[in-house]
Amino acid sequence: STMPPLLASIANAGRHGVLVKSAEALERLAAADAVALDKTGTLTEGAPRVADVLPLGGEDRASLLALAAAAERPSEHPIARAVVAAAREEGLEPAEARDFSSVPGEGVRAVVGGDRVAVGSPARLLGRADGGPGTVTADDAHERAREEAERLEAQGRTAVVVLRGDRPAGVLGLADRMRDGAAAAVAALAARTGRPPVLLTGDAPAAARRTAEEAGITEVEAGLLPEDKVARVRAMEDAGARVMMIGDGVNDAPALAAAHTAVAMGRSGSDLSRRTADAVVVRDELEAVATAASLARRARRLVV
Ligand code: ADP
Ligand code: MG
Repeated sequence: STMPPLLASIANAGRHGVLVKSAEALERLAAADAVALDKTGTLTEGAPRVADVLPLGGEDRASLLALAAAAERPSEHPIARAVVAAAREEGLEPAEARDFSSVPGEGVRAVVGGDRVAVGSPARLLGRADGGPGTVTADDAHERAREEAERLEAQGRTAVVVLRGDRPAGVLGLADRMRDGAAAAVAALAARTGRPPVLLTGDAPAAARRTAEEAGITEVEAGLLPEDKVARVRAMEDAGARVMMIGDGVNDAPALAAAHTAVAMGRSGSDLSRRTADAVVVRDELEAVATAASLARRARRLVV
């Protein structure tokens, strides 16, 4: 072909399912020598379903699900969608919630009926026995909720706790499927950069480690807020790496912006992450990222 190598390889990457936005973006893709990736919606499909409903403290299954769904209904988060869908599948119509608010990396709060309700991260809502952030309490119901959450997380589930007032009403376990080809993509990216890819996630350590293992990832940073993801990317860059960050969520946008090279998931990804990115994986096939990086390298060799 008579097409200049850069344009030819942008076109070629496009055929492999990666939309590279410019020649500069291609150059950054070629230069990346480390990979950081998000878990939910990037490594996994990001469409979790409620797999476990564990009522506590005299709550019953239906009232627990209905309560959680009422508080989650205004939220766009994949966990919220899964909880609302699970309630509907059981024929429950969630009540109207008032004073809704959502906290990134934590969950949602609302008033349902006369009760203050919170649904979200066990580490943030229950506190930790190890003296970490949150309210540490020796209370039995809290202890039970913590135990159930840990048991679910050890199975690779994302656990969320439901509080009615200050009392745990139960714990929900969410299961998310690994993307097809995730392990192959991780291996290809590791081979390309010569370093193990790092998983950055807001999910709990145990759940994250389980998913990481399945994908062949050994480096895991869990329990991260969006700004913590930024800090991790910056730390890698300060240590001399040119980081390719791959993410999908609104919560990944700051880390994408901080990274040398930003890659967004096209289908499941948020508008914000797509706009921030150098390259977009149009069919959400992670392996295409490694292919595009190889094409970018080859184009650079031809040009330089
Ligand atoms: P990730 O980095 O894996 O994409 P997020 O930052 O979106 O994750 O969420 C991190 C954690 O915050 C979740 O695992 C969950 O515990 C909690 N969380 C966030 N939003 C919600 C919500 N709407 N309902 C329940 N829990 C939530
Ligand atoms: Mg995500």
